Amino acid sequence: MRVVLLGPPASGKGTQGRALARHTQQTYLSTGALLREAVENQTEIGQTAEPILQRGEYVSDPLMCSILADWLQRNDSEKGWVLDGFPRTMPQAQFLDNWLGERQLRLHAAISLDVPFEELLSRVSGRVECPVCRWSGQRSDLTRSNRCPQCDGPAHSRKDDDPENFRSRYQEYERFTVPVVTYYREEGILIKVSASAPKPAVTKEILRQITQPTS
Ligand code: AMP
Repeated sequence: MRVVLLGPPASGKGTQGRALARHTQQTYLSTGALLREAVENQTEIGQTAEPILQRGEYVSDPLMCSILADWLQRNDSEKGWVLDGFPRTMPQAQFLDNWLGERQLRLHAAISLDVPFEELLSRVSGRVECPVCRWSGQRSDLTRSNRCPQCDGPAHSRKDDDPENFRSRYQEYERFTVPVVTYYREEGILIKVSASAPKPAVTKEILRQITQPTS
């Protein structure tokens, strides 16, 4: 099963993507987490991506597609994968279609997470991420000593999670990613899930819909 997760910033792609990959034993990739790690390690990709992430813009399609080509080559297996945050633009969706087509593979589903704008804004202000295991959640999920609940790492806010940056990322989402959602709807593989419910209920709904045939 090969699945992509789409949704505006703070819609829960990371949380739901990891949960889905765990339940279905698929490999998971968050392109956002990969870029943040590259920035932290100041690799060549990280140095290119850093100012773009700071502005809340999307990284260029050629760079993202080359990162994906490399990752897919190393990680594609019979079990498939869950891609969180790729594709985000139509050229990226085209790249993925070509990559799959060349291997006689297909995308099983595109999951679109829906959360009202005001709720996204409030989630962003309380969001924290662990730089060690890349767990992401709300400040209220941290341990009593303010550590990551998964690995006890020093979880902290993401640099790009201020309201101004969030608005810019949301605009990028509306401009470039909403057309991708429409494209997958037309392809008949879109699964739309309201992601305002508690996390386990959202995971359950995704699993329920993903095991049903799409129209
Ligand atoms: P995320 O962790 O999914 O919220 O992604 C954080 C940031 O990484 C985004 O706001 C973009 O700047 C960048 N990014 C992640 N994935 C992509 C992608 N597929 N295309 C372009 N930029 C991306």
